Amino acid sequence: MIRVVTLDSFDEKQIAKLCQTLYTAFGVGSEHSGQKEVPEGMSEPLDAEKLLTEMKGIRAYEDDKVLFITSRKLKERELAGGKGPTPGFAQYNKSRAIISTHGFKDLEASFKPVARNALQQIGHLWGLHHCLDPRCSMYPPWTPSFSSGEPTFCTFCRDKSEQKLRLAKS
Ligand SMILES: [Zn+2]
Ligand SMILES: [Zn+2]
Repeated sequence: MIRVVTLDSFDEKQIAKLCQTLYTAFGVGSEHSGQKEVPEGMSEPLDAEKLLTEMKGIRAYEDDKVLFITSRKLKERELAGGKGPTPGFAQYNKSRAIISTHGFKDLEASFKPVARNALQQIGHLWGLHHCLDPRCSMYPPWTPSFSSGEPTFCTFCRDKSEQKLRLAKS
């Protein structure tokens, strides 16, 4: 089960649409598990890695994946060539990820790039790496074409995520 936890208020209809998109992409149930406050003392820009570690009171079973979604800005990351924006962050091969809609007007107007980002971060939770197919949601997010694509996976990544899911269930 993928549990979407909102950290700010979003249009419920758009969150439902996001859950539907996640269900279609991964073939596992996805639901909005309510809204939570960010940990005390944390302010914008949010430190994504710290937030994921410190979020308390999230009800989830062992194989559940939790996706936090915020409209607040995430702290920039140190990259080889300087600082870069952080659209999302995932605890690779573990259970928690976060995405930000910062820089977008709202979820409705920017549904595809936000959903693509969600697919990529949850993909990382199931151990998927970046992919060379520009149509795939695992394509590197810093590429200019990333935000214009559909929230879907290429056949390779889809098969790989299904394998991981089967392993998790058995
Ligand atoms: Zn990534
Ligand atoms: Zn792919």
